[in-house]
Formats: sequence, structure tokens, C-alpha cells
Amino acid sequence: MRVFSTQAALAATLANAGTTVGFVPTMGALHEGHLSLVRCSKRDNGVTVVSIFVNPNQFNDTNDLKNYPRDLDTDLKLLEAEGVDYVYAPPVEDVYPEPDTRVFEFGQVDKVMEGAFRPGHFNGVAQVVSRLFEIVKPDRAYFGEKDFQQLAVIRELVKLMRMTVDVIGCPIIREADGLARSSRNTLLTPEHRAAAPLIYQGLREASENAGKQTVAEVAQEIIRKVNENPLLKTEYVEIVDASTLQKVSEWTPGPRRGCIAVRAGNVRLIDNIDMTPQKK
Ligand code: AMP
Repeated sequence: MRVFSTQAALAATLANAGTTVGFVPTMGALHEGHLSLVRCSKRDNGVTVVSIFVNPNQFNDTNDLKNYPRDLDTDLKLLEAEGVDYVYAPPVEDVYPEPDTRVFEFGQVDKVMEGAFRPGHFNGVAQVVSRLFEIVKPDRAYFGEKDFQQLAVIRELVKLMRMTVDVIGCPIIREADGLARSSRNTLLTPEHRAAAPLIYQGLREASENAGKQTVAEVAQEIIRKVNENPLLKTEYVEIVDASTLQKVSEWTPGPRRGCIAVRAGNVRLIDNIDMTPQKK
């Protein structure tokens, strides 16, 4: 495994790859969720590139950026064990030699949910992902459904910029108690960690009633479950169209997703679940 800290050196090496390139962008503090993306990439491609970069432009909260977990040595050991070919772990100046002032127009997909609660977040994601795609020029790029709205925004970005990369969404990896794996889970206090599985429990139980109860009742049921524990504060629960991410008010046909954001002390957790009513 070779580790690069400059885009010039990485791009020079990749220019001679001579095979398909799979790419997994991450912010490090790696866990099984990230490694599942790496395994998909290894399965599909001749070489796999992983980036580890805590992108300052996508943090709307300076404390969140400051506290974001970082552990490059452990990350590199995990990636080596997975048989990753190349890692790009640059300093901020290598990704942004000058400030990136681009503003992306995605229509409505980035305006709701995370976009509404974290102003500028998706614009920062688009800035870094478009730069990383230009450096790595991947054939396929792998993103987790854990960040369901991010996946939709990246699909829009690829269309907008007429890129040829194939964007592949991968399923959410969870802890044994159902909590979605996240680098931020390590920041939870023991009490908040113990409360956090209610988020997925609420989503799972409510999803059984998709198409049976009203959309509003299903959403209300999730909030009720999560609010059973006063340590959890729900920011939003929305049942949305799985491609446009816009709220639905009735169970019209088509794929649906239940999305939630919760504050657990100082840590913000997000999760989602398939909410498409099942035909019996
Ligand atoms: P991050 O390091 O949080 O920016 O995440 C990097 C990539 O890993 C993103 O595509 C995430 O959606 C994905 N990811 C993070 N957590 C999980 C998880 N629990 N299951 C699947 N993918 C995940």
C-alpha cells in the first residue's frame, strides 16, 4: 500500500494504473462502514484508492471540526489489512491551494433535512468530492447509504459536471444493537451511547407500518420512540421520495426513505431506513 500526501504524486501514479480505479472518499477514523465500501471497491476494480481528509469546507460548526476524531496510524493499518492499493491523506493546502469559492446549484435535493440544518454543508461536500474525482479520475466511487442525502447530492454533482464516474451506494453497517456505525459514535458519553439504539429501533418499528398508517402517523411514531429517552433530541424526522429527497405526505407509489437526525448531547447522529410500502 502506498500513501500519498500530494495530489501530484497520486495522479502521476494513477496515470499508469492500466486498470479500473475504484475510489472510497472518507474523513478517516475508519470503522466497518468504511471498510465495507473498500471491500465493494476491491471486488469491482483493479485498484482501490481511499482518501482520508477531514474537509473543513463541509463543517458548518467549528467545534464539530475541531472535535472530529482523527487517527491516521490506525486508519492506515486497517486499510493495509484490507489490501488497499493507494491512500491519499493530504494536508488542507494540497486539496485547496486557494480557497474554493464555487457555489453549486442542485435544485431542491440539498435544501431539505441536512441541507436545512447544516447551511453550506453540501456545497462543501461538492467542492471536495469534485476535486477528489478530478485527481483520482475513478471509474467507480463508493458512498454509504448512511449519508443518504449526500449520496443523492453526489449523483446530482456527477450529472451537473458531466463526469463519467459510476456512483455506487452501499448499505448501512450497524453495531450489534442497531446503531449505525459512525466515526462520531466514539464521541458519545456512555449514557448517550446507551440511549442511541432507540434511533434505529424507532425507524425499524415504524417502517413496518409504511403504507398502513398515514405518513404523519409513521413519522410521529419514530419521534415518540426516540423521545422515550430524554437524552435524545430529535432534529427532524422526514419520510421522503428516495430520489428527490422531498417530503411526501401520502403513500404514493415509488421508493420512500425515512430519515432522522438526533442530538445526543454534543453529538449529532443521522440514520435512515427504507420506507417503501411493501406490496403483500
Ligand atoms: P465519512 O468518513 O463519515 O465522511 O464517511 C465516508 C464514507 O463512508 C461515506 O460514503 C459514508 O456514507 C460511508 N459510511 C459512513 N458510515 C457508514 C456506515 N455505517 N455504513 C455504510 N457506509 C458508511
